[in-house]
Amino acid sequence: SAMRKVRTKITKTVCTYCGVGCSYDIWTRDRHILKIEPSEGAANNISTCVKGKFGWDFVNHPDRLQKPLIREGDGFREASWEEALDMVARRLGEIRAAHGPDALGFISSSKCTNEENYLMQKLARAVVGTNNVDNCSRYCQSPATQGLFRTVGYGGDSGSISDIAQSSLVLIIGSNTAESHPVLATRVKRAHKLHGQTLIVADIREHEMARRSDIHLRPLPGTDLVWLSAIAKYIIDNGKAKTDFIHQWVNKFDEYRKSLEPFTMDHAAQVTGIPKETLIKVAEEIIAAPSMCVLWAMGVTQHCGGSDTSTAISNLLLTTGNYMRPGTGAYPLRGHNNVQGASDFGCMPAYFAGYEKVVDEEVRKRYEQGWGVDLPTSKGLDNHEMVDAVHEGKVKGIYLFGEDMYSADSNANYVGAAFSMLDFFVVQDIFFSETCRYADVVLPASPSLEKEGTFTSTERRIQRLYQVFEPLGESKPDWKIVQEIARRLGAKWNYTHPADVMHEAASLSPMFAGVTYDRLAGYKTLQWPVALDGTDQPLLYTERFNFHDGKANFYPLEWIPPCDVMDAEFDLHLNNGRMLEHFHEGNMTYRVAGVHEETPNRFVEVSPELAENRGISTGQWVDITSRHGEIRTQVLVTDRVSGNQLYMPLNSPEKPANLLTGSFTDRTTHTPAYKETPVKMKVLPWR
Ligand code: SF4
Repeated sequence: SAMRKVRTKITKTVCTYCGVGCSYDIWTRDRHILKIEPSEGAANNISTCVKGKFGWDFVNHPDRLQKPLIREGDGFREASWEEALDMVARRLGEIRAAHGPDALGFISSSKCTNEENYLMQKLARAVVGTNNVDNCSRYCQSPATQGLFRTVGYGGDSGSISDIAQSSLVLIIGSNTAESHPVLATRVKRAHKLHGQTLIVADIREHEMARRSDIHLRPLPGTDLVWLSAIAKYIIDNGKAKTDFIHQWVNKFDEYRKSLEPFTMDHAAQVTGIPKETLIKVAEEIIAAPSMCVLWAMGVTQHCGGSDTSTAISNLLLTTGNYMRPGTGAYPLRGHNNVQGASDFGCMPAYFAGYEKVVDEEVRKRYEQGWGVDLPTSKGLDNHEMVDAVHEGKVKGIYLFGEDMYSADSNANYVGAAFSMLDFFVVQDIFFSETCRYADVVLPASPSLEKEGTFTSTERRIQRLYQVFEPLGESKPDWKIVQEIARRLGAKWNYTHPADVMHEAASLSPMFAGVTYDRLAGYKTLQWPVALDGTDQPLLYTERFNFHDGKANFYPLEWIPPCDVMDAEFDLHLNNGRMLEHFHEGNMTYRVAGVHEETPNRFVEVSPELAENRGISTGQWVDITSRHGEIRTQVLVTDRVSGNQLYMPLNSPEKPANLLTGSFTDRTTHTPAYKETPVKMKVLPWR
């Protein structure tokens, strides 16, 4: 009826889960979500996955934080915004006055919008005066970004998701794409099945994409760099490198070729455990393919050598001339909806928005003029370094929004201890997370459906989201809260809408020069870099790579074995990852009833060989112990894993899997080596 129609509201939004960046209409009546209708999303068209379609009930969950909380004794009491914000500003100000700006740290979120991330780094840099600002992509994708910085210049996918279908060969490394990036995986599955695309998957686990692949490589953990380099060497030695491309576009070939000397096929077979014939077959497939793109995720990045392996991927792409055309290039798959944007908009200790260095005087001057303040001149601390600095007594206060760092960072016990040592800790979130337990003040934020702004997906696509609901209770959008704190610290900010923030970012960062809210209206999108006239770049490298001479660079590497190693006691290797139905620490998906009931329990996957060997079967309880912690869980025997390798979903409503993971990190970016955890398994009697 007409009445019903009037009350039904249709609003365009962007998915708040993974980095594919699906967008769709959300139909609501009052605070009820009636349906999700994908129609013309740039990334997904008419598709979504289970999370995008059914994963929204958390927005109205009774657990939502609706009032500011202030610590009192062992618990918290509700407070007014005035009181809470005054306290935050006063305490941050006091710490800065007593110990200097670098005694404070700021941690932002890949769940928050680009505008909110921009304001967080501006608060740190321009208002407080420190470059100690980072975001949670430190836990996943920083090594991929690093590998691309070294070789091709921009930290972003080199093409669009739709280009992947045009590729002759897709190589997926360390990515459970079907479960972690479902809608993107569908594109690959279709191209493989219908258009004869070759699919090669390298993963220690036999997940769905591995089962579908033409060749599944199962390298030993932490050895991807070795087989990638051996294949590059084989291609060069057999005269099949794309020399014209290299001559025109890439520096340092001789140095690179020399660095490959140790990487013979025999050596690679020995180190990786992959038969030599298989490696040669893969190399021949790559040589024969007119175009290849490589997709990778946390199975590559969350290792001590995560940056180096990401670099090796890009080296191989350069060797084979697989850049600068649709269907070629590097596709690091971003985990959260806005992993890309949180870094793009400057929440990194060494970079302003658009990856311009804070140590570059010319750039800094531009920002000093734009913001009307003097800025700190040296790089700040990343998340990981901040935690160490708290233990060392150097960082005394942290303001963190939109992430459950206790459950997400590696070595939860060490991180929790750091939070306990802080003089002052502000956590801003939509739920009372594990991290909130350590806070002095908890500020209630609003999720994406309750605010406006933009997200940037894995393919560098900037998309607008529109407000569906009013903020629940007294919660507020993060950008408004950051602004309130900045003002109380003396800044004269006056942003009335996220569009004002984007306008400022575009005026200061050349990468976003032509980004405006008008150009992003409705379902319109822009893929950065965006020129002043609004021209964007679906294909990232067309006329130049992002270095001064316009050329890419080979980056010579050596292989360093994994840091945390198995021994007689810790004799099994634990891997971890995502499940289709759940998302990360589970703060959102565990509050979606339909999703939670389907997949309630923690389990550990055990290979049939190991199960037989130890005399255990599905359902039996075990204690999994690492050098850092212990978790009790049930066994699931499956051939998705092989040999002495265990796998555990990282999602859990109780003890996070990261109680087991240690303090080893990627050598360059400090991303925790979550995927390198030796453990032992004690079988408990049936009960
Ligand atoms: Fe959301 Fe990712 Fe699923 Fe798309 S594929 S609906 S972006 S979780």
